[in-house]
Amino acid sequence: MVKKIWVLKAGALDLDRSILFVGRGFGIKERVPIMMVLLETDEGYVLIDTGMNPYGPKDQEGIWGPRAKDLVPIIEEEDDVRNRLKKLNLSPTDIDHVVNTHMHWDHTGGNQFFTKSRIYVQRAEYRYAMYPDSFYAASYMKNHYDYDLNYVLVEGDMEIVSGVHLLATPGHTIGHQSVFVTMENGAKIIIAGDAAYTWESVEKIVPPGNCYDMVGSVLSLQKLQTIQRITGADLLPSHEPNHEFYHTIQNSFNKSLNLQII
Ligand SMILES: [Zn+2]
Repeated sequence: MVKKIWVLKAGALDLDRSILFVGRGFGIKERVPIMMVLLETDEGYVLIDTGMNPYGPKDQEGIWGPRAKDLVPIIEEEDDVRNRLKKLNLSPTDIDHVVNTHMHWDHTGGNQFFTKSRIYVQRAEYRYAMYPDSFYAASYMKNHYDYDLNYVLVEGDMEIVSGVHLLATPGHTIGHQSVFVTMENGAKIIIAGDAAYTWESVEKIVPPGNCYDMVGSVLSLQKLQTIQRITGADLLPSHEPNHEFYHTIQNSFNKSLNLQII
């Protein structure tokens, strides 16, 4: 059962609005948050995504290559996943389970520290991340995830611990997954990952500008919208450009989630 949930801030990115919404907002710059989510369960801690690579700021070219010029990363010392965990008196070795929603660089930058964890990723995503097509290779950085780690390759929807379900939501990437969390007290939340960059993406079914498969992305947005409406769950998007984002989730999400933002 899931007892507690924290949203861990992991910096921000400056990007073109047309990446968030296909065909719209060209030339308009947006600053979007990067985040990780930590769950305390009676089967151990579950961390969803690992943020950006903390070595990036000191070696932009070496760690991120040309990508950091298109999408400008903003990451402070405190955004390092190890430092966010430290605030809760935890370290990466305390985390039993890690979920990668997908293998893009802004979600796998801290994977290298989780040498003791089971790391759940969809099989198709892992394979693709190792050998991406050239048109979609820029956001896959093998120096973020190609380590001797305990990857658990999964296919489709599954429960990893009681109350934590992986939902296959391909489209943005070939093997994207979201996470449906049911708290011990019954409160529910969907951690959408990049299947839904924003709330508007889900409400109006607008796929992102950068997709492996646009039709797949639309179907996954429909899946998330349907599950949200049936269950009444709150939905956490991955890169909501609203400047009040953290304030909004703190105030508008179900109070029974007792969501803490670190
Ligand atoms: Zn992302």
